[in-house]
Amino acid sequence: MEELLKDVHPKESRKIPQYYDLAHGVAFKFHDELAKIVVDLESTGSLWVNLDVSDEQKLQLESLEGEDLWSWLEEMGRTDVLIDMTYRQVSAAVISDAAYFIFESLSACARGKTAVAFSLLRKPLKENLLLLEWICGDPEDFLLNFHGESADDYILNRLPLDKRRKIVKDALAETALDFLDFDFIWGVRFDKSSPRNLETLWTKATHLVTSAKASATEPGNLNFVFSSEAAIHDQWEYYYQVVPLFLLYMLNVSERVVERFIGWDQRLRPTQLLVRQLAFVRYAEFYQGRDYLEEMRSDFKELEFTCTSCGETVKCSESDLDLFWSKAEIRCTSCGIKISVWDILAHGSG
Ligand SMILES: [Zn+2]
Repeated sequence: MEELLKDVHPKESRKIPQYYDLAHGVAFKFHDELAKIVVDLESTGSLWVNLDVSDEQKLQLESLEGEDLWSWLEEMGRTDVLIDMTYRQVSAAVISDAAYFIFESLSACARGKTAVAFSLLRKPLKENLLLLEWICGDPEDFLLNFHGESADDYILNRLPLDKRRKIVKDALAETALDFLDFDFIWGVRFDKSSPRNLETLWTKATHLVTSAKASATEPGNLNFVFSSEAAIHDQWEYYYQVVPLFLLYMLNVSERVVERFIGWDQRLRPTQLLVRQLAFVRYAEFYQGRDYLEEMRSDFKELEFTCTSCGETVKCSESDLDLFWSKAEIRCTSCGIKISVWDILAHGSG
């Protein structure tokens, strides 16, 4: 099992203690799902909108792109198409950009470069996520501001505090993740008085010397450059307590945003959600103790499948839970072979 978790993104030169392998693996799993949303949107052509046009208009359209295309749609009175395309393309671009930053942050963290890892979280958590929350909770308001007079209307860090709080609250309500509360989702990013706020670390990770009260540099030190081993361990601890939860939240917000214009593959969806839930259960147990969500473990043991190799009907074994969420594979207890869950579903025998 330990080897299995170490296998998550094995090309990294890993420095994190084995203790964090599980949290790191779960975080990467959520990142991969986030990145996959964008890949799926692109491969299914979901970023584009169908438009019925005459042959003459078709010829005009073929030579248009970018702003010219935008102006043309406006002239044709097709602002509905314009708005629909904006919604799709902005969502995908913001999710994709966040996933790039998060990938680099996770990699840096695993290599022990905690200052870099925290710096790289700032943009996706404070900006990309806030924008996705806005689109998630109040898409009309976002699009109105986006197509307004000037980009000033959607400069995220200039939005009034009340408005930002409302954006986060609305999005949280949309995701219905009842184990996450507003104080956590808000406090970590925006409330400097919260003990879990990341601003102190962000400030220290961005500047060599700082004087602000909470993040003042210790005399004879520069921020992070001479970080002691103990400090790096604290930073790892904090990183893995916060990041997997935020990635799960960001994943849910993003899915809520894109499912307004794409449909999930209903044959695969329940399994995708189960894999994700089990990853979360293992992570929650890591911090909260074994009894946490024991029920979900029992559900897993009840799962039966037909082996694609020997044809036997077998039950999932609890010892393969990590194999299941991290690789989407199950081991056949009859012939011992490991089978991809997606292959089983393709055979229609899950
Ligand atoms: Zn078998």
